Amino acid sequence: MSDDCIFCKIVAGQIPCRKIYEDDLVLAFHDINPVAPVHFMIIPKAHVASLAECDESHRAVLGHILLLAPRLARDLGLEDGFRTIINTGRGGGQEVFHLHVHVIGGAKPRPM
Ligand code: AMP
Ligand code: ZN
Repeated sequence: MSDDCIFCKIVAGQIPCRKIYEDDLVLAFHDINPVAPVHFMIIPKAHVASLAECDESHRAVLGHILLLAPRLARDLGLEDGFRTIINTGRGGGQEVFHLHVHVIGGAKPRPM
């Protein structure tokens, strides 16, 4: 756990969240400020600041998160597809420095 990390505090139960899924490695919860009808994020329970800080030791949890995304998206009704976003570093628009994968859907996505 990293002091002053809001997502570590959510993992520790010190800050509430609208939980979707949890296992030993990851936690999924709704974004507090959704940009679409469905907007949640999947995070590793163990603190890592961003994708840029990941190394070989994160391979399993990264794979786990990506395989979980379509499963949870389907569970939340996103039969037609969804967008995944990982903002990395200040240049990538990251605001919370605990790795998270956004899963977004339920509205027509803007083309990228
Ligand atoms: P990012 O720009 O990828 O770092 O996005 C951080 C995201 O975390 C934003 O979409 C916020 O709305 C979301 N967020 C911040 N605090 C919370 C919280 N306490 N619970 C749920 N989502 C949060
Ligand atoms: Zn953290």
